Amino acid sequence: MASPLDLREVPRFEISCLACMYLLVRLLTQQIQGPKKAQRPNMPATERLYYTDSHLIEFEARVIDRTDRVSGWTAVTLDRTAFYPTGGGQPSDTGTLDGKRVLECIDGEETGILHVIQGRAPEVGTIVKGRIDWARRLDHIQQHTGQHILSQAFVTLFNAPTRSFRVLHDFCEIDVELTNPTNEAIERAVELANNVIWEDREITIRNVTGEEAGRLPLRKDSSRDGELRLIEIEGFDLTPCGGTHAYRTGEVGMIAVRTWERAKGLARIEFAAGIRALGDYRRANKTARAVASLFSAGRDDAAKLTARMLEENKDLNRRLRTLEEIAARVEAQELLVTALPNPTGDRVVMHVFDNRDGEALKHLAQALIVYPNTIALLGSRDRGAARIVFARSADAPGDMNALMRQACAIVDGRGGGKADLAQGGGKNVEKLEDALAAAKKRIDDA
Ligand SMILES: [Zn+2]
Repeated sequence: MASPLDLREVPRFEISCLACMYLLVRLLTQQIQGPKKAQRPNMPATERLYYTDSHLIEFEARVIDRTDRVSGWTAVTLDRTAFYPTGGGQPSDTGTLDGKRVLECIDGEETGILHVIQGRAPEVGTIVKGRIDWARRLDHIQQHTGQHILSQAFVTLFNAPTRSFRVLHDFCEIDVELTNPTNEAIERAVELANNVIWEDREITIRNVTGEEAGRLPLRKDSSRDGELRLIEIEGFDLTPCGGTHAYRTGEVGMIAVRTWERAKGLARIEFAAGIRALGDYRRANKTARAVASLFSAGRDDAAKLTARMLEENKDLNRRLRTLEEIAARVEAQELLVTALPNPTGDRVVMHVFDNRDGEALKHLAQALIVYPNTIALLGSRDRGAARIVFARSADAPGDMNALMRQACAIVDGRGGGKADLAQGGGKNVEKLEDALAAAKKRIDDA
C-alpha cells in the first residue's frame, strides 16, 4: 500500500468556495461513514488507479456504496478510481461519472474514496464510466512536480529544505529554510529547476519498505510507517510522495518565481509552473504594457519612465510649494485689507476656498500671522473633504487647538495642534462654513 502525501509538504487550495464545499462534503462524509464503518467493516478499499498512472483520465468501475443525503448532492464509492481525492489539503480532481459532475472526492482511507456528484447516485453494483477533468489534473501535476524540482534545487544549491507548500488560486507558495535569501540566490534555484525541466528527465515511481527507504538519500523523511511510495526524478531528486506527477520533467514546462519575502525565519517564495507560469506572464505583460502605453513607450521602458515621472513629480511639488509661499504672502496682504479689527483691535481673517489642500492653507495662515494681532480661520473644500487651518500671531488671543476640536466636531472629523496653530478636517463639507463661523463667534465673544 503506497503512502498518501506527506502532510508536512502538501498543497492546500485557499479558495473560499472550495473551502465551503470541503466543509459540506466533510459533513456528508461523516454522516455516511459513521454508521457504514460499523455496518460494513470489510468493505474493500478503493483501488487508486492514479498511483500507477497519473495520466489515466477515463476508467470503468463498479459502485460499491452510495448515498443520497444533501439536497442535490449524492456520493458514491467505487471499487477503483482515477480521481485523486482531497487529502491532507491536496485539492481533489473533478470530472464526471456517467456524465454527472463529480464536484469533489474525499479520501475515507479504509472506507474508500467518496465521489460527490450532482444528481442521483447510480445503484450499487452498477458499472460506471469515470472521466477526469484533464486541464485541472495537468495543472496539479505541473504545480506539484514543479515543487519537487524547485525544492530539490534549493537543497542542491543551498542545502535549504522546503518546510511547506501551498497551491493557491493563481500561483503556489513554498517556505524554504534559506539562510540568506536574495533575488540572485532564488533566481539561481529557478535556473537550475528550469534546466532540470528542459533536460526532460524521467520521473519514476517505486515502492520500498521502510527499511530500504532508510538506506536511500531521500530529500525528506516520511512520517509514514511501512511501505513507502518514492518519486524519483532521474539523477536529481528522490522523495516519498502520494501525489500525481509528470511522466517526465519536460511536462512541467517551466517554473517562474513571482516574488518572495521573509516570513518567520523562512523565505516564502511565490512561484508558478506550467500553464500558471504562462498565465502569470500574460498578466505581468498586460500590466507592463498598460503602464508603458501611458508613456507611449516600449514595454521594457515602463519602470524606468515611471521612476522618472515620479522624480519629476516630486520636483514639481517642491516648486509648487515654493510658489505657494510667495503667492500666500501676496494673498495675505489682500485678505488683511478686508478684515476689520474687532473692539480689542484683533483682526480675524475668515475665508473658505475651493481645491486647496491642508499644506496650501497652512502656508497662507503662516503668511497672515506674520502681521500682529491677526487670527486666521481658513477652510477649503478639497476633493470631497473639508480642510481647516486655524492660526494666530503671538500677540493675538485664543486657543487654536480648542477652536479646532470644536470645528472638527462640526464637520465630522478630527484635528488638533497647538495654541497658536492647529489643523484638521472632516467629511461633512456642507458644515465647513458653520464650523468657521462658530470659531469666529467664540473669538468675538471672548
Ligand atoms: Zn509529489
